[in-house]
Amino acid sequence: MQTLFHDLPPASAGTQRRLRSLHFGRAASGRKAYLHASLHADEIPPMLVAQCLIERLSALDAAGAIAGEIVLVPMANPIGLAQDIQGSAFGRFDMGTGANFNRQFKHLTAALIPLVEPRLGADVAANTRVIRAACHELLAAVEPGSETNALKLLLQTLAMDADLVLDLHCDNQAVMHVYTGTPQTAAFQPLAGYLGAQALLYSEVSGDDPFDETASRIWWELAAHFEGRFPIDAQACLAATVELRGETEVSHDLAEQDADALLAFLRHLGHVDGTAPRAPAGCEPTPLEGVEPLTAPSSGILVFAKQPGDWVEAGELVVEIICPLTDARTALHARASGRCFARTSRRFATRGMRLAKIAGSVAYRSGSLLSP
Ligand SMILES: [Zn+2]
Repeated sequence: MQTLFHDLPPASAGTQRRLRSLHFGRAASGRKAYLHASLHADEIPPMLVAQCLIERLSALDAAGAIAGEIVLVPMANPIGLAQDIQGSAFGRFDMGTGANFNRQFKHLTAALIPLVEPRLGADVAANTRVIRAACHELLAAVEPGSETNALKLLLQTLAMDADLVLDLHCDNQAVMHVYTGTPQTAAFQPLAGYLGAQALLYSEVSGDDPFDETASRIWWELAAHFEGRFPIDAQACLAATVELRGETEVSHDLAEQDADALLAFLRHLGHVDGTAPRAPAGCEPTPLEGVEPLTAPSSGILVFAKQPGDWVEAGELVVEIICPLTDARTALHARASGRCFARTSRRFATRGMRLAKIAGSVAYRSGSLLSP
């Protein structure tokens, strides 16, 4: 195992932040998996899972059971981790710009098309190598400017040539759930099964270029663009965002259980030697366009009738909002049936706040599908 430290360009004189990437395996097979923890810095469960993964992957590596390369960044966002505001963690957005740390990664398809066209040929594996090299060229030419953009560029560069990318997060109060691209839904069903996920949410384009999507979407877009001219593996990079339950669900038992599930999936895909256990059937995948984000139409005290993991029938009460100024009570009901998989951890709503998410099976939304 090789350990690399990556210094970020200081945002301000006299400061210095750094990341650590751990490189397991021998990079002999040409296959690569990439995982990182807590891009939204105050989402702690992934960092404890990464601690378990370090132990397990180190032992597997010592036993020669990792033929390819597995890269693990056990703490993906030192900038957000340091954003402690008078006792409250603030790790989702960059305080300097307001930008969400998991949005606006570089979506490369448009720049890749003219760059790779003269280099592509009849061999699908060679085309994969050509496209990965071109991704690195494009990313190497980016001048990131800010410390946060340098962080994003570093993470994307570490992941861009991987066959598998897992971005580990958690939600406020939530059950296990997974986001992926529509063409990769079947590939991630075993992961959802191993993890015991209660929602597997898919979309072709979720909007605003989150990390996982910029690693995977180029492949099916390039495959479609060059269809009939050059063979391109539309699944050359499988990428997903894994939401490891709620933000306070930090325990050794859960972390070990989740690390086992992630390792089972790494085995299932051949990144780790050995036979993977059979994946439990898991939940039925549902479209991200079918997720109902219940939104507060007015301000008030929140009293939930449903919690993450509950099945909600169409028309059922999910949450009541009680205004302390007027005593008005507003009941919010589910528009469609589905699994409630996440809700806010706050108990007072401001107007427009997102309160809970229900995974319905029928697509009805469009545009930017993720939370701000
Ligand atoms: Zn997150």
